[in-house]
Amino acid sequence: MRIVQAHLSVIEQKKELNAFLGVYQDQALQRANEVDKKINKGTAGRLAGLVIGIKDLLCYKDHPLQGGSKILDGFISQYSATAVQRLLDEDAIIIGRQNCDEFGMGSSNENSAFGPVRNDLDPSRVSGGSSGGSAVSVQAGMCQVSLGTDTGGSVRQPASFCGLIGLKPTYSRISRYGLAAYASSFDCIGIISKHMDDIGLVLEVIAGADEFDSTVSRREVPSYSKEMRSATERKFKIAYMNDTIENNALQPEIKDAILEKIQQLKAKGHTVNAIDFPLNEYVLPTYYILATAEASSNLSRYDGVRYGYRSKNINDVTSLYKKTRSEGFGKEVQRRILLGTFVLSASYYDAYYAKAQQVRTLIRNQIKAIFKEYDFILMPTAPTTAFKLGRHSDNPVSMYLADLFSVQANVAGVPAISIPCGKDELGLPIGLQLVADDFEESKLLQFSDQVLKMK
Ligand code: GLN
Repeated sequence: MRIVQAHLSVIEQKKELNAFLGVYQDQALQRANEVDKKINKGTAGRLAGLVIGIKDLLCYKDHPLQGGSKILDGFISQYSATAVQRLLDEDAIIIGRQNCDEFGMGSSNENSAFGPVRNDLDPSRVSGGSSGGSAVSVQAGMCQVSLGTDTGGSVRQPASFCGLIGLKPTYSRISRYGLAAYASSFDCIGIISKHMDDIGLVLEVIAGADEFDSTVSRREVPSYSKEMRSATERKFKIAYMNDTIENNALQPEIKDAILEKIQQLKAKGHTVNAIDFPLNEYVLPTYYILATAEASSNLSRYDGVRYGYRSKNINDVTSLYKKTRSEGFGKEVQRRILLGTFVLSASYYDAYYAKAQQVRTLIRNQIKAIFKEYDFILMPTAPTTAFKLGRHSDNPVSMYLADLFSVQANVAGVPAISIPCGKDELGLPIGLQLVADDFEESKLLQFSDQVLKMK
């Protein structure tokens, strides 16, 4: 109970960061009371009392869900996402719904219909995105753990901007049931926390087979929290890609921090080799072609008929669709729907969408080939640390470049984590990214923990 109260008071004090779109104060306190009783009786679940915030793309029964968008004004979830239900079943306490870029489209949280989220370290800077509210709430002490979503980096990049740990598991490890879709073949629920143990524990609770999502893996869920604590002194083989470290877009202090970490790893007896990955320049375009194509299809359901916002200015069905969608969606979402519709259109389908699908297969195959030889790929999470609000507002392509290093894991479908790795000269946190082969989360968490503790 006291823990929940403490978090609620930070939420109140730090309202100006704009991390939460809804705070479930009374319910959280009431649940805390119930969980306290269970703890006393010895019947509490594995997450008893853990205070968790959820991104506004995850359904929570009888609570509003807006995806950071005006188009879902007034919408109330009729069911809970599988991941959210599993948290509740283990006695976690859900404290509120967190601000995000509209439908997860963005890298700075400036595309939310409810205003940007500010970084607690420097409120003139962005939180990162699209799970910006989820990252800042952990950073500022408004909750202990957040569930975000990661389609192209949206858990790892804000975690790196806020000095936190952010895990995107293997695609299909966690059910997507109740996650409002952006790009279904990339979308993944992810976990943000300050502590590696929380990440392992929450992952083992929410991962695994689910009758409501036919794409979720039926593979058994290991006890990540235990496995990540076994054999901590293992020596690994790590690859880093030359063109990520030598990339012109990379902030020099991030390059220095990564190179220093590589030296430390070698000194500890790990094998670290530079490799070439010639497909790297195609990763970001492949992502943006496929993600916008899927978004244009997924977002067709917001038509003013079924749910959410409906324009008042209508006289027939066509104007109902047009006006509702023009007034309800923000600029970036409209841009992506147009781009996605274009790449799927009959005359351009083969040149863009079909080609990008082929390139995706090549990228995945080449990444898998690297894992035949190496345990991990190491790279920066993002090319820069947290930038100033408004810095990329006039240039969508420069904003897309913020995802340069994070989209690779989503294109390939493999798990990846961002962990803190020093600070730049302004004191802003730097994120180091580790990528592993499919379903190697235990090993990934175990190694990340080693790297975090390395001096
Ligand atoms: N920034 C990327 C995009 O805008 C990734 C977003 C995400 O992971 N949800 O598409």
